[in-house]
Amino acid sequence: MSDLVLRNIGKTYANGYQAIPSIDLTIEEGEFIVLVGPSGCGKSTLLRMVAGLESISQGDLLIKGDQVNHKEPAERDIAMVFQNYALYPHMSVYDNMAYGLKNRGEPKSEIETKVNAVAQMLGLEELLTRKPRQLSGGQRQRVAMGRAMVRDPKVFLFDEPLSNLDAKLRVQMRVEIRELQRKLGTTTLYVTHDQVEAMTLADRLVVLNKGHAEQVGTPMALYERP
Ligand code: ADP
Ligand code: ADP
Repeated sequence: MSDLVLRNIGKTYANGYQAIPSIDLTIEEGEFIVLVGPSGCGKSTLLRMVAGLESISQGDLLIKGDQVNHKEPAERDIAMVFQNYALYPHMSVYDNMAYGLKNRGEPKSEIETKVNAVAQMLGLEELLTRKPRQLSGGQRQRVAMGRAMVRDPKVFLFDEPLSNLDAKLRVQMRVEIRELQRKLGTTTLYVTHDQVEAMTLADRLVVLNKGHAEQVGTPMALYERP
């Protein structure tokens, strides 16, 4: 069964603007899909519809075979990493990572085990009691990833997660994200406007242009057919 299916998905905003006319996309388990295209082409709109942060105007969204069009974000078994990290400033790193699990009512000992395991994977063990303002940009981004990872979701969504980092860190984090994703095997939908980032990360690319999926394929296939 495919992990994530977008069937004839479209978005028309309340003001009548049709941001996405219709997109068809089937994503297999463990695939790393990158949505790439210039500013305003509809990348965020599409990602936010999958996340449940934006209503779906037409079509069907299926996660592991279930139609989730009207499910709340928390019920979709997905985790999203944002460009601005979206960490809670008053909470420690530990509490930021534990937050979603606490909300799900998981036992404290289980939460601790999960948070500590992920913190170790991301090199955050020494930073668990700090507040976000006491962290560098790269560390904040790791915490945001950690918060997504502890929930062990079916799908990761990334919205330009590296665009606030400097060039060197961007390359380093890009490699880290891909290695972690391979290790976890979590199906991933990743948005960027950076073509190099897209080519290096993707199993398959979706090139969006004015809300249309202009090209879909492996980096190699798209590179050879410009
Ligand atoms: P991208 O993420 O590729 O930069 P977006 O998905 O943010 O693109 O936006 C796609 C198009 O939809 C843009 O033309 C944008 O102006 C428009 N748009 C985004 N949000 C809204 C909204 N709430 N109401 C109307 N139009 C919107
Ligand atoms: P509460 O639920 O009342 O906040 P907790 O025991 O969950 O109490 O957390 C107390 C503080 O200790 C939190 O702010 C958190 O940052 C820190 N903390 C809890 N568990 C750990 C842990 N395993 N490693 C590091 N810090 C922790």
